[in-house]
Amino acid sequence: MKNYPQLFLNTRKAGSFLGQHPWVLEKSIIDPTVALEPGTIVDLMHPKGNWIGRGVYNPLSRIRVRLYQWDQASELDEQWLCEQLENAVAMRDAWQLAHGPLDAVRLVNSEGDGLSGLVIDKFADYLVVQFSAIAMQHWSSAIVNWLQQRFEPQAIFIRTDQKTAANEGTEDRDEVIGTVPDQPIELSENGVRIQLDLASGQKTGYYLDQRTNRTQAAYWVQPGPMLDVCSYLGGFSLAACRWGKPTSVLALDSSKRALEQAATNAALNNFTQIRFEQADCFERLGEMQKSGDKFQTIVLDPPRMASNRGNVAAALRAYHRLNSLALELLLPGGMLITCSCSGRVSRGDFAGVLAAVASRQRRSVQIIESLGADFDHPIATNCPESEYLKCFICRAK
Ligand code: SAH
Repeated sequence: MKNYPQLFLNTRKAGSFLGQHPWVLEKSIIDPTVALEPGTIVDLMHPKGNWIGRGVYNPLSRIRVRLYQWDQASELDEQWLCEQLENAVAMRDAWQLAHGPLDAVRLVNSEGDGLSGLVIDKFADYLVVQFSAIAMQHWSSAIVNWLQQRFEPQAIFIRTDQKTAANEGTEDRDEVIGTVPDQPIELSENGVRIQLDLASGQKTGYYLDQRTNRTQAAYWVQPGPMLDVCSYLGGFSLAACRWGKPTSVLALDSSKRALEQAATNAALNNFTQIRFEQADCFERLGEMQKSGDKFQTIVLDPPRMASNRGNVAAALRAYHRLNSLALELLLPGGMLITCSCSGRVSRGDFAGVLAAVASRQRRSVQIIESLGADFDHPIATNCPESEYLKCFICRAK
């Protein structure tokens, strides 16, 4: 076995790593005495000298070490990486064997698959790889080679989210290996046709985590007007028109580009009852509240509000404001489908926001279904933050 540089936890923080949390923050370790390059494989040690885990060091990131291994005898090398990838893909294969094939699936879900900092989505014959840690970026060519052999894709899009690139000090580079499709690609999701442009889409291109929730929510959509807030490519609106009974739908998003694609998707499915509008959700809901607009169904699926522990309170206030506006727009007996994708906001905290909003407006709100991300976004029990998505299907009196 190779010898790796050792990094020591400071005494105050040592206990918390016995639960195998993969993120070792700056404040938890003693800085190394000799400078180590970003991407160096290190052993994390208890102050008393026992071995805790093996990971990758990044002095440029607040997450100084990402841990990947808790078995001292195993190496952290390309063979390990390929085994992890195969293990992740095998679970998706098993699901599809039982439930039927999917056009689009998340193959690797970062911490949820023991590969902190790596996300891989498959859209038909195309793959999108998103790096959010230097460790995974260093293994970029091994990952690409493995994917090419395993899937023979038309193209692999390499993405680095700008915000994470800044936080991690990683290269902010987008690259395509293979041939870029000359038109949007088309997927079928639970009976809905969806086109997306992989070259310009948000994140990896489409939000696969809400796949089942879009259909589950649609089953509750009764006749009447529906409002879809933060619609992106129209996922919840399209599913509602396919499986529910909305009389009309207003879909809002701040991104003009997303709305143009969403309108194309509505036309593709022959759904003429959806209207798309570019707007800031807080402003527009405020205006509608003043003019007394009412809806039978409202979907709230805003972007992540809390990126670290420090801004959880601000995120909770924003959720409170948005949900409060929505409840005022909701007819008695109406359905509120409300989501939070902030990993730092727990399911309990988010339910607490709803409780506070309901009691302030003297309405009663029932959570009928408490949903999370779809099966291909597994949660790591050693990393509670990986349970980021909460989707409550509620009825309000
Ligand atoms: N509901 C979508 C996913 C939404 S992702 C689906 O099922 O696929 C969040 C969306 O919120 C993005 O499309 C983003 O463009 C939009 N957004 C971000 N900030 C916004 C704001 N202030 N007002 C309205 N939309 C916003």
